[in-house]
Amino acid sequence: MRALETVLLAKGYVDPDALDLIVETYETKIGPRCGAQVVAKAWVDPAYRQRLLADGTAAVAELSFAGRQGEHLKVVENTDQLHNLVVCTLCSCYPWPVLGLPPVWYKSAAYRSKAVMDPRGVLADFGVTLPPEKTIRVWDSTAEIRYLVLPQRPAGTEGLSEARLAELVTRDSMIGTGLPLAAGASQ
Ligand code: FE
Repeated sequence: MRALETVLLAKGYVDPDALDLIVETYETKIGPRCGAQVVAKAWVDPAYRQRLLADGTAAVAELSFAGRQGEHLKVVENTDQLHNLVVCTLCSCYPWPVLGLPPVWYKSAAYRSKAVMDPRGVLADFGVTLPPEKTIRVWDSTAEIRYLVLPQRPAGTEGLSEARLAELVTRDSMIGTGLPLAAGASQ
């Protein structure tokens, strides 16, 4: 992506501001909304949740989200006892079909090293404080396997529609560096 971008910029094909906007849109808007639909469906449909945890790739494909870097998707579920955090210590492997392009910090050396050595410290850096008794499990992505966190459904959302629930699912909550928004909030 970056190499192509450099060539196109150098040759004057691409307006850098327009390109930044496109990249940002895929990082924050379009990309993660696919994952949010997956999570919201899992929250309202127990059978779908089971299929998602058993075979993430197949369950995501049911919603027509498939493509490069989506092969061998493993979905890891947060519970009252366990919080999952996803990193790629080698480079920036990321589940493109459900989350879009990885955010800049995901590719940083600081995140890649600290996520493994001090996951609780990383969460604090992102403003997330978990109870000390909650276990944090770190998943290291590779070219062969990508991870998506299934966050816990926020309290007080019993009456919300699937579409409304999806609006509470943030990108970071599916990487594990964040939590879903509270009922009544919107991003
Ligand atoms: Fe990688």
